[in-house]
Amino acid sequence: MTQDCIFCKIANKEINTDFVLETENMVVFKDINPKAPVHLLIVPKEHIRSINDIKNENKDLIAEMIFTAKQAANIMSINESGYKLLFNVEKGGGQEVFHIHLHLMGGW
Ligand code: AMP
Repeated sequence: MTQDCIFCKIANKEINTDFVLETENMVVFKDINPKAPVHLLIVPKEHIRSINDIKNENKDLIAEMIFTAKQAANIMSINESGYKLLFNVEKGGGQEVFHIHLHLMGGW
């Protein structure tokens, strides 16, 4: 947990959030400012700043984010219709919250 990180606080249940799924290593919750009818964030509980900071030892965790996204798409019943998965990386890539997360957008 990193102090003043909003996604650490959400993962730690210090902030009230609309959770869709929680696993041992991940939380999935609804984006507060959705850009699609279904817009979820797949967030590891471990604090990693961005894709730029991932290391070899994080390979399993990154793969788990994609598997968790697939599971969340099933829960939201958008697996058949399809969805987008997106990482914004650092400021130039549109990243605003510096705790790694995967956007899942669909439901159009
Ligand atoms: P990014 O621009 O990739 O860093 O995405 C951060 C996302 O987090 C944005 O889409 C925000 O709408 C979303 N967000 C920020 N604060 C919260 C929050 N408290 N609960 C849910 N989503 C949030």
